[in-house]
This record gives sequence, structure tokens and C-alpha cells, in this order.
Amino acid sequence: MSDASDMTTAEMTDRYLLGNYGRFPVAFERGEGGYIWDESGKRYLDFGTGIAVCSLGHSPKVMQTALTEQGGKLIHCSNLYQIRVQAELARFVSETIMQRSGKTFFCNSGAEANDALIKLARKRAFDKYGRESGKNEIVTCRQSFHGRTLGGIAATGQEKVKVGFDPLLPGFFHTPFNDCEALREAVDDKTAGILFEPVQGEGGIVPVTPEFMAVAAELREKYDLLLMFDEVQCGAGRTGDWCGWRTIQRGSGVEVEPDVVSWAKGFGGGVPVGAIWADDDCAGALGPGTHGSTFGGTPLVSAVSLAVLEEIENKNVLENVTRQADRIREVVDSWNLAPALELRGVGLMLGFVLDPDAFDHGDKTAALSVVSKAMEAGMLTVPAGDCVVRWLPRLDVPDAEVNEALETFHNVLKSVTK
Ligand code: PLP
Repeated sequence: MSDASDMTTAEMTDRYLLGNYGRFPVAFERGEGGYIWDESGKRYLDFGTGIAVCSLGHSPKVMQTALTEQGGKLIHCSNLYQIRVQAELARFVSETIMQRSGKTFFCNSGAEANDALIKLARKRAFDKYGRESGKNEIVTCRQSFHGRTLGGIAATGQEKVKVGFDPLLPGFFHTPFNDCEALREAVDDKTAGILFEPVQGEGGIVPVTPEFMAVAAELREKYDLLLMFDEVQCGAGRTGDWCGWRTIQRGSGVEVEPDVVSWAKGFGGGVPVGAIWADDDCAGALGPGTHGSTFGGTPLVSAVSLAVLEEIENKNVLENVTRQADRIREVVDSWNLAPALELRGVGLMLGFVLDPDAFDHGDKTAALSVVSKAMEAGMLTVPAGDCVVRWLPRLDVPDAEVNEALETFHNVLKSVTK
């Protein structure tokens, strides 16, 4: 093997890694709390948290402790056996997150969780109505994002993820998000499930409306299908409630609960984990031998995820999410800068909608240009599409970091204003 010591990280990335990511020209070495340092020693305030993953910031004590304690006891054993800490994590999902009786399956990512959820919907319809019924279709929304597996890209309502991967998994239909009439038209007795994100993330931080959820629930009754929410990005506390849809429904008079939910990202605070929860009425569809994952819910990942979620619960982190989101909105509402049209989102899942015609962004998209300028200024944010910049700070973000973000980002927007 050749000696790589004289190669930069950029050169090694280019030489050895598949070119499937468009990466920023920076390599991070160390993180602590809300900050992350690159190889040159430059410090950044991290308001991207690895795309909504590091819910308690970088290397929090609670994760370090769980990693070392569980790591010293048992890292992996297989789902051939019972795993106490995995069952404890599932108990947390039913009793604290869902507050309903149901069953959880663990995997390793959001796309895998959505694959499991699609399989569950199809299997349940198959068991109940038989193959001849043709009840196997899944209705999802335009601009949605559900992951990069073959199931995930079939479910995703954005053409760009599908191009070149034909033949796609059949049986998926995409309806305009939040269009109640279109949803009514898209669903019929062949529909096994409706799937959407309570807050579309990659699609540009767009919350679902309570009315859309109410119509989806009405169609569930009419056609005996499963209502499935993808909380991969908006779940696990990001909206200020354990469940994104509950934050959105609060005060609306609508009370709709899903049959199945998927999570990943912030659910484990940085360890690779995905999960689905299914109501007792449908969970039995995935019986022995129907689905599985070697690494799903290992003792190590379960212990760390449980430690993260318990910390969020015990330290009133959800209250902090709501309080900081209110503070951010109050300040941003007073900005009045042409490039920023609107601040969208729920809790600490926020999207600055940019007007691409209001400033010069060269050959970059408006979002990429602002994200790059914020990086130069020492702050990480995340683009969503061409015109939205996401703020996804850690859920326990303190006042000082919010103040710093507001000041830095305000300066960035001012600097690009014509
Ligand atoms: N679902 C949603 C809503 C997401 O935002 C993502 C990732 O961004 C996924 C699914 C896919 O998750 P993963 O990248 O962990 O497979």
C-alpha cells in the first residue's frame, strides 16, 4: 500500500471515495457541544448538526458514558437472541414518544426504516385482502424525501433521485403536498398506505397542514389503509414535542394519530439507528422471518440511543426547543432584508426561504451561496433545494449560541443584500 501521509484529505477523498456526494471543501476533526473544528483549527458554530442528527451537540458526556459503559459490556450479539436494552428502547418509544401501545423494529437508517414501513403496509394488506385484491399501492407526496434505497427513491416525490435507476419499484403515486382534494383523488381501495413527512425537510421545510392530516385520516377509515408518518428528520424532539405531527396539530382542533412512524437521524444523536413503530393492530403483519437487519438495534446502538432520548426527556430539552425557536422567530421577524423572504418551519427545524432574484449568487444556487458565506463566517447551515437554507441546531442549544447564530447569519444576509 502506498504511503498517504503526503496527501491532503481532499486528495484522498478524490482518489479513494466514490464520488456520490457533492462535498464542501472542508474536513472536520473534532466537535464539542455546539462547535466543530476543521483540520486547520478553524471553529464553526454548528447549526446543521450533521443534517439534524447530533440532537445533543457533539460528543456529549451522556453519549460518551453510554458508549464506554455498553462498549465495555457487549457491543453486538445478533437478533437471534433477546436484547434487554433494545427492548428498553422500544418501551421508551411506546410509552414516552408515542404514548400508545405498539411495537418497534430497529434498523440503521431512515431509508431502511421507510423500507420496513412500506413492507409492513403491503404485508398487512396482503394478509387481510389477499394478492388478488391488488391492494399494495402507496401514496406519498410531491417534493417528499424518503431515502436512497430502491424503496426510498420509489417513495420519494422528487424526480432527481430517480433518474437512471429504472425500473423503479412499482406501486407508488405522488400527490401534491397539502392538497386535500388531490389526496382524495389519489387514494382508492388499492391503496395500502399513505406516507408523508409531517414537516418536509429536503423538500424545503414545509409543514403539513392539520386539514391534510384530517383528510388522510378520513381516507384511512374509508379504505382501511395505514397512515404512515416519516419522522426521520422532524421527529425525536426537533419540533418541541416528541412527535412532529402533534406540534402541528396543537390548537388546530385536529387530532390524528398515525398507524406507523419511522425515525432515524436525531433519534440516536449520532449513532447509526433507524426505527419504526407500529400500532398493535397492524404490527403483527411483520411476523417471524418477514423482515430483519443484522445490525438493527445492537446493544451498543440501543444503549446510546436510549441515553440520548432519556437525556432529552429528563433535562426538559423539548421546552428549550420551543423557547429558542420563539426567540429566533422574534429576532428574524425584525430583519427585513430582501434576500430572505420568509422563515418557515416548526421548532428547531427552520428554513430561510431566499429570493434568488434579490441578490447576486454567481453560478451557485441562492442556498449554496448563503451556506458557503456562512461557512466562511464560521457557521454551518444546510441547504434544502435551491432556495432554502436550513437551521437545525442541537436541541439543547443555549442562548449564547442562538445569539451568535442570529448575529452571524444576519451579517451574512446583509453582506449579500444588493
Ligand atoms: N426520510 C426523511 C424525511 C429524510 O429527511 C431522510 C434523510 O434526509 C431520509 C428519510 C433518509 O434517511 P437516511 O439518510 O438515514 O437513510
